[in-house]
Amino acid sequence: MAKPIPIPVRRAAEASSRVDALVRDMHARSAVAGVGALVDARGRPLRDLRISVTDRCNFRCVYCMPKDVFGRDYPFLPHGELLTFEEITRLARLFKAQGVNKIRLTGGEPLLRKNIERLIEMLAGIGGLDLTLTTNGALLARKARSLKDAGLQRVTVSLDALDDSAFRAMNDVDFPVARVLDGIDAAAAAGLSPIKVNMVVKRGANEREIVPLARHFRGSGHILRFIEFMDVGHTNGWRMDEVVPAAEVLKIVDAEFPIEPVDPNYRGEVAERWRYRDGEGEIGVIASVTQAFCSDCTRARLSTDGKVYTCLFGTEGFDLKTPLREGASDAELADAIAAIWRQRADRYSELRTAATAALPKVEMSYIGG
Ligand code: SAM
Ligand code: SF4
Ligand code: SF4
Repeated sequence: MAKPIPIPVRRAAEASSRVDALVRDMHARSAVAGVGALVDARGRPLRDLRISVTDRCNFRCVYCMPKDVFGRDYPFLPHGELLTFEEITRLARLFKAQGVNKIRLTGGEPLLRKNIERLIEMLAGIGGLDLTLTTNGALLARKARSLKDAGLQRVTVSLDALDDSAFRAMNDVDFPVARVLDGIDAAAAAGLSPIKVNMVVKRGANEREIVPLARHFRGSGHILRFIEFMDVGHTNGWRMDEVVPAAEVLKIVDAEFPIEPVDPNYRGEVAERWRYRDGEGEIGVIASVTQAFCSDCTRARLSTDGKVYTCLFGTEGFDLKTPLREGASDAELADAIAAIWRQRADRYSELRTAATAALPKVEMSYIGG
């Protein structure tokens, strides 16, 4: 008989006072989400699961894994700590039973995980899930076809500059832009579309690349999305004055290529959608710093070593690997997932200040971006 799965008491106690205050609102919202649907302490359903399949990466993007911190001696997780594909798939199935309908594989760089195609096949076998992956694109030209054949539906590719030297400076491993563009072409040819292209905009680093990237992807069918530089983790030296607000990005694009807003596809969509007035396609902005969207956040994250984080800016995860490996039943694990979600009250981006930015949060490469 497995031990009961511990849900940290402090968090449960913290959450319970808020639960009291929010209970009426929660009932009203769960009526919207569906009778008996699992909702958190703020009435938000569980819909998306991001799974970090490795904490390692072949890039050292300055805003994510700065080289001086993630150097040769950095203690990445040993192989035995990583969830196996069987463990990931079992948890994914249980998360789906609690309401998840979309899974994104991420990391670190997910294409570095050996035999990732096998994991995709196993997840696709669950059925009824929107299955996507976020990658830096370095290995995409080689892998796009096998990813598609395994059952991946779409990819998001990160690309912070079109200018080669600006891009090499952002990824800090001298990786050329042309190979990422080849990866995007291969993904399109394999049918992993519509492809989203993520650009993190950091003031003083790459805001001059906004218009060139917009020009490049206009008319391609790919959706370029501009992401505000966030204070994820504890190592990227974030400062508010290095954030280029989404509103400023939109003005820059609009001055060159006039745009207009588009309605969201669904509740909780993180990117605000815009389209070119001349019909040449769509862009998005992810204004996580200047216009927090916590009230609609339906995302859970599963770290490389099997901890559940209910916020990107979490400091503490809920360990599911230990009970998994000690023989917990599906029912026990399902109860644990439900309990974790029910007590969730996170809304970091709504509360962000210079002081919270300095808190010791987990790194994005480990928790999954
Ligand atoms: N390695 C893959 C990649 O780069 O696409 C997947 C993991 S990465 C952590 C996921 C996304 O998070 C990427 O689009 C990346 O640009 C974004 N990201 C990383 N650090 C960020 C930061 N400080 N602020 C905003 N976005 C960030
Ligand atoms: Fe690696 Fe992605 Fe982080 Fe860049 S953003 S360092 S590619 S995990
Ligand atoms: Fe969700 Fe946390 Fe981001 Fe708010 S700060 S949108 S709760 S992940």
